[in-house]
Amino acid sequence: MAIIKVDSSDNAEFLSATEELREYFSALSVKKGRKLTYNVLTYGCQLNESDSEKLEGMLTSFGLERVQGKDELTMADVILMNTCSVRENADKHLFGNLGVFKNGVREDPDRIIIICGCMMKVPENVEKIRKSYPYVDLVFDPQQIHRFPILLRDSIRNSSQLINIGSIDYIADDDYFTISRLRKFRALVPIMYGCNNFCTYCIVPYARGRERSRDFGKIVSELETLKEQGYKEVMLLGQNVNSYGLNNEEGKTFKDVLAAASDIGFNRVRFMSSHPKDLSDEVIDLMADRDNIEKHLHLAMQSGSNRILKLMNRPYTIEQFLDIAYKFRSRVKEGSLTTDIIVGFPGETEEDFEQTLDAVRKAGFDAAFTFQYSPRPGTKAASFDDQVPKDIVSARFDRLLKLQNDLAYKSNEARVGRSYEVLIEGISKAGAGTYTARTLSNHLVNFTIPEDILPKGCLEDLEGRLGIVKIERARPYSIDGVLERFSDV
Ligand code: SF4
Repeated sequence: MAIIKVDSSDNAEFLSATEELREYFSALSVKKGRKLTYNVLTYGCQLNESDSEKLEGMLTSFGLERVQGKDELTMADVILMNTCSVRENADKHLFGNLGVFKNGVREDPDRIIIICGCMMKVPENVEKIRKSYPYVDLVFDPQQIHRFPILLRDSIRNSSQLINIGSIDYIADDDYFTISRLRKFRALVPIMYGCNNFCTYCIVPYARGRERSRDFGKIVSELETLKEQGYKEVMLLGQNVNSYGLNNEEGKTFKDVLAAASDIGFNRVRFMSSHPKDLSDEVIDLMADRDNIEKHLHLAMQSGSNRILKLMNRPYTIEQFLDIAYKFRSRVKEGSLTTDIIVGFPGETEEDFEQTLDAVRKAGFDAAFTFQYSPRPGTKAASFDDQVPKDIVSARFDRLLKLQNDLAYKSNEARVGRSYEVLIEGISKAGAGTYTARTLSNHLVNFTIPEDILPKGCLEDLEGRLGIVKIERARPYSIDGVLERFSDV
């Protein structure tokens, strides 16, 4: 399959489409006598979030204002859904929302509905939209993002539904876009796109194409700009960051990108996701040696049975996985190890599942995303014969959840009585006067602030501040504490 690189020098048509859309929405705004708005709904992983930040940047450049929240969902002038086909019930969310949008389009025929994301790489979904939802204006897949203004302009010009699902893997460098970053302290920085691994349960290689690594120099210059702009945390993103550079000639590896981000001097450098087959000892050593690299490794195990790992097309054994886990534990002080596990993969026996429980105990995961297997259209495993009955999957899932919850609680309990530096994310959902933050090991902390540090009623915006929190209490999914002092002044 062809991989085409596009950079800023290719974007004359992109710019002229953007200009045409700006004029179109400006005239519409005059006609309606108000500012026009957009609403972007994002489902799924951080790569989808990163794509949405680019799409929001483009929508803003057309002169639209962002609105948020359910109430505004059907009221915005442009509604964009960035879908995910990995998470369960994604299709229910999509088609449920499309039903709701119908009334909104009846009320205002100028309203524009757009759908993109991984679900659009499943032909059945696109066909259903074509047949049953004619009021959807534009459908495109994740590889077409750098063409969004062109596609939207064409759809408006022709007043008809435009479906653009491509078969070419593009890599558009990020200086191509104006990015509307959703967090003022954290910047998401994709370092590569796509995936070559073809795990049999996963749609991503079909939806996002083959692996393409961004140029090392361009990543470094983006990171330097982000540092100058005051971002405290960067998150390096890819479906499998550890295979960065394997498909280009620069000779740079993921370790080089991680070291460069650390050298630039962010308070925190995070990354997501890692595949056990490519994680090098050098990366673990770097995590151990650098104070500003997060002490958190998310490493998807998926199953503890070698037989099931093989059926999943995961090219490692559980013994190799546990070796990495032990290495990480011994090298990275107070590190946290998290994972993904699928329960009830086709053919999973009780013995296979027991091996998963055993591996979970041995690895002692600090947290895990656990999923009940359900077939995803378009994947190899969806056609496997021996699907496990739902009641058995559900009973196994409950057993795994209980074990993992106990482990997570123990991990949180081990922090009680100690003080940690945290990066504050904002007001907590836990209750009035409580803030939420993360430790360097990515533990979620809810904390209060004594009045001598911040007087009651003072609604100072603390997002992005650093502080030292003393941990007082463990919960299954978080830890509670009290701020001792700010550490960034
Ligand atoms: S590594 Fe496997 S699970 Fe992850 S994106 Fe690639 S195919 Fe999907």
